[in-house]
Amino acid sequence: KVRVRFAPSPTGPLHIGGVRTALFNYLFAKKNGGDFVLRIEDTDQNRYVEGAEAYIVEALNWCRIPFDEGVEKDGGFGPYRQSERKHLYEKYALELIEKGKAYYAFDTPEKLDFHRKDYEVKGKTFIYNWHNRLKLDNSLSLSNKERKEKIASGDPYVIRFKSPQDEKLKLQDLIRGFIEIDTNVLDDKILFKSDGMPTYHLANIVDDHLMQISHVIRGEEWLPSLALHYLLYDAFGWDTPQFAHLPLIMKPTGKGKLSKRDGEKGGFPVFPLSWTESEGYREAGYFPEAVVNFLAMLGWNPGTEQELFSLEELIKAFSLERVNKSGARFDPEKTKWYNHQYLQSKTDEELAGLFQSVLDDKQIPLSVRNDNYVARVVGLIKERADFVSDFWELSSYFFEAPKSYAEKPVKKQWKEETPAYLQKVAEIINNTEDFSSTNLETKIKAWITENELSFGKVMGPLRLVIVGDLKGPHLFDILAMIGKEACLERIEKAIS
Ligand code: GLU
Repeated sequence: KVRVRFAPSPTGPLHIGGVRTALFNYLFAKKNGGDFVLRIEDTDQNRYVEGAEAYIVEALNWCRIPFDEGVEKDGGFGPYRQSERKHLYEKYALELIEKGKAYYAFDTPEKLDFHRKDYEVKGKTFIYNWHNRLKLDNSLSLSNKERKEKIASGDPYVIRFKSPQDEKLKLQDLIRGFIEIDTNVLDDKILFKSDGMPTYHLANIVDDHLMQISHVIRGEEWLPSLALHYLLYDAFGWDTPQFAHLPLIMKPTGKGKLSKRDGEKGGFPVFPLSWTESEGYREAGYFPEAVVNFLAMLGWNPGTEQELFSLEELIKAFSLERVNKSGARFDPEKTKWYNHQYLQSKTDEELAGLFQSVLDDKQIPLSVRNDNYVARVVGLIKERADFVSDFWELSSYFFEAPKSYAEKPVKKQWKEETPAYLQKVAEIINNTEDFSSTNLETKIKAWITENELSFGKVMGPLRLVIVGDLKGPHLFDILAMIGKEACLERIEKAIS
């Protein structure tokens, strides 16, 4: 059975790179009728951040990619927080010692630092492994008796993995193919720390094994750990899951990994939800469908020209074979394009519902905004909007008279004869019983033609007094929408 996991460390808000990893796991699980597990990797107590776990859960739910199994959702493989599995790991570390695959190391941080500096001045890098481990302070260099004494006297120790010497490993990655590694370059990674906690490597392998994870799908930054993970599975004598490392998400310039700072500089979110002073996609007015869609396209391609995918369509189309090897450039403009597309696909009624809360904030009286009216307004302006938050800017004149007139067009359009023209238009409007857009258009245009006036000289100023600027949809639609009274008031105010 396919079982995948998303295994974030609760060290802060989830970056969209993390959400993308979760999404690809989700898609792979759903495509293959498998389970999507959320495991919280909180063994590093120094980096633990309050609220991060709740944020992760909320972000996945907001994206509509909930986990099947995980914290507060037991699926028989819990607990799902590594801090609550603490008691499990030591036994496995000791098992490796027993098997001669790991050893105790007593080196103090000061000693290790000294060695590092010593290597540095010689122009070399210190790696704790086969070439020097016998000279360092560990159970391989000490006699059995010395080791026991040290442990008995409470000397702090860690447990290190004993990387093999002179072996060539052939690792398989579902996205990258085969990768060859010479074990001589690997260091003896710490598996178990002096504080009684496992490191990421040990806990991760033990849990993936115990939770029967079939496929490990994670970010490319974990590729350098793959050799060690292979060796660990081998040391325990366990079957290795299959691995897939997802390409990095790159800055808009294409150079380097996308960071929080890029978002701050470029004015776009890098988090799904807001976190302290950083705005999230949700709060910036993105639809979750749009976020999921653009994230899916970061590193995966359907092999066709299709760009718009619902979650169901993504599940159908997704495969790891179509995940790219190279980094995926993040394009903030494209994320807006996606939101624009999803906004157009919503009904006017649905969008009107979302817009009502903005109108609440603007204290627009209920008499000028029944649901039907708001939906009609939305229908006229949504084409120009990327977000619901753009609506007000595009449509305020449907709800209230312009507070000011745009300066430049006023200079160009407002002539001596303008008030007289508008006075006449006001009369026509006042005498119009059938207040439909087409009827208004016929009447006003007839008057313009009869008097051999220029359309621009009448319609430009009329738009200015009604809208406040030379923007917006068909002017007669606007007149008909706002109604006779509002039209007359606005003209009156401008020419008196
Ligand atoms: N805890 C790791 C992280 O925060 C998980 C890496 C993995 O998926 O193996 O990314």
